[in-house]
Formats: sequence, structure tokens, C-alpha cells
Amino acid sequence: AAKERGRNAIELFSEQINARFHRRQQLEMRLQNALAKNEFFLEYQPQVDLQTGRMLGVEALLRWRNDDLGLVMPDDFISLAEETGLIRPIGEWVLRTACQEYLSWWQPEGAELRLAVNISGQQIKHPDFVPIIDDILHSTGFDPRLLELEITETVAMEDVEGNIGTFRDLKARRLQLAIDDFGTGYSSLSYLRHFPIDRLKIDRKFIRDAAKCSDSASLVEAIMSMARSLHLDIIAEGVETEEQVAYLWKQGCRQIQGFFFGRPMSASDLQKYLQEQTVAELLPAWVS
Ligand code: C2E
Ligand code: MG
Ligand code: MG
Ligand code: MG
Repeated sequence: AAKERGRNAIELFSEQINARFHRRQQLEMRLQNALAKNEFFLEYQPQVDLQTGRMLGVEALLRWRNDDLGLVMPDDFISLAEETGLIRPIGEWVLRTACQEYLSWWQPEGAELRLAVNISGQQIKHPDFVPIIDDILHSTGFDPRLLELEITETVAMEDVEGNIGTFRDLKARRLQLAIDDFGTGYSSLSYLRHFPIDRLKIDRKFIRDAAKCSDSASLVEAIMSMARSLHLDIIAEGVETEEQVAYLWKQGCRQIQGFFFGRPMSASDLQKYLQEQTVAELLPAWVS
């Protein structure tokens, strides 16, 4: 009986592996066709400035809606897109679409909103990347100073030399550069100071814990003082509560992104958000 149970367990295990493999194949097959079938769309999450009480930009976030799979979030398909190389055409679609959509929005007079787009390691290390950026800027007429590329700390540190070269090319075009999910990788100050970047985006894990956990708080404070000494801007992501806003305000962090000020939303909801100027109303009374 033990022998039988053992065999059954092995069979069960291999069935599970098969099922997982099958699911991955299904996902990959559908991902291959997703661009052609126009299944991707973008949501935009507001970034606000506590100092002025205004929206200062948006981050474009990719979504995938498939007839069979329903709505698929990036955490469930970006790594597959990276492994299969599909991230390059998908990433180019994101950049081009975000620039085009942005240009069709109404914006308050002089708002000059920043548009932040996530870039994968596969994109940044490819020799076509900068030419693609040039093509998108030229064909859309987008002002490069308002376009920010977000590269995760892990990707930035994978190839320091190569990335510094690409970052310089991008800065020569006056784009803005942010290091995303900062604090989770292994940057040393000595590397960081060689990157021609504009801002660090503190990972939401530390924001979540900072008000309650002294280790996370020390890390946030170390990042803040590092940013100050390198003359880098700081933005906090994943800010959900007034307590977190208060903490960041106290630390001198003025740029905030998170559910507290707005979830990622469709372009048309963002349009309403911009028109209604809800940001100032959302600011806690003690700010300003
Ligand atoms: P990210 O770039 O760090 O984006 C922030 C993520 O945090 C988004 O998840 C956003 O919805 C979520 N978020 C924002 N505010 C809050 C908050 O207050 N609380 C919580 N719990 N979460 C918050 P999303 O949209 O699921 O994207 C996940 C990740 O997928 C992104 O992390 C980014 O690394 C990647 N991603 C998204 N769009 C793209 C894209 O177009 N290209 C590439 N290469 N990666 C993308
Ligand atoms: Mg990001
Ligand atoms: Mg992030
Ligand atoms: Mg992330």
C-alpha cells in the first residue's frame, strides 16, 4: 500500500508539473497573439506633489485582457514576456501608445505632466532601444523632457557600464530617468553616483513598513539622505494611508504615488481626475 501511495504521489506530482507546463504554454501562445489582437491597454496612476498639492505626472501601467483568460496583471505575464523576448515589441507598443494617448489629454494650463513608463532589461540592453525612442519622439512629437523611463534597481545594476552609456544617450535627448523599486537591489553609493539619473523611486515594501518597522524606516531615511547628497529627486510608491503620507512629509519626501491619491485608472477616468482637481482635496489638512 505504501508503494502504491508512493507511486500515486509521484504521479500526482508529475500531473501538477504537466498542468503547470500546459498552463504556461497556453499563456505563451495567447501572449504571442496579444499585440496583433489588440488585447493590451494602459492604465495611468497619478503622482502628486505634496508641496504644491498638484498632480505632477502619471505612471503608465500595462494591462492585458484576453477572451479566455480575462484581465491579466503584469506580475502574471511580464516575466514570461521577458523570457520569450516578446517584451521588446510589447514594450515598444507601451511607449508609443502612452505618448500618443498623453498627447490627446486635456491638461490644466501649464501642468506639463510627466509621463513615466516602465522599461524592461531586455529593452534597455538592446542596441535598437535608443533608435526606437528617437522614432517614437519624432513620430509623436512628444516633448522628451516630459518622458521618464523607469528602470528597476536590479536591472540598472546588472550591467553598470552598459547602462551608464545608454543612460547618457537618453539624457542627451533630455529624457528623465528613474530607478524603480529602489532599496530592493544592491546598489552601492559608488555605482549610483555614476548613473546620470533624475530620481529614485522608493520601493513600496519599505513605504508599507516604515511607519511600523524601524528597520524599514532606517532604510527609507538612509535613501533620503543618500538622494540628498547625490542631488537626486525622490518619489515614494505604494503610499496607501495618511499615516504614510505624514511620515514621508516629515522625512522631506514630497513626491507621492499610491492608492491614497489614486489607483491606476483608465485614460478617461484620468481625464475626469485632472478636470476635477481632486488632489488638493485629498491632501491632509496638516500639509501646507
Ligand atoms: P512598478 O513599476 O513598481 O509599479 C507599481 C505597482 O504598484 C503597480 O502594479 C501599481 O498598481 C502598484 N501600486 C501603486 N500604488 C499602490 C499602493 O498604494 N498599494 C499597492 N499595494 N500597490 C500599489 P501593477 O500595475 O500590477 O504592475 C506591477 C509591476 O509590473 C510594475 O511595478 C512593473 O514592474 C511591471 N510593469 C507594469 N507595466 C509595465 C510595462 O509597461 N512594462 C514593463 N516592463 N513592466 C511593467
Ligand atoms: Mg514603475
Ligand atoms: Mg516600483
Ligand atoms: Mg515593482
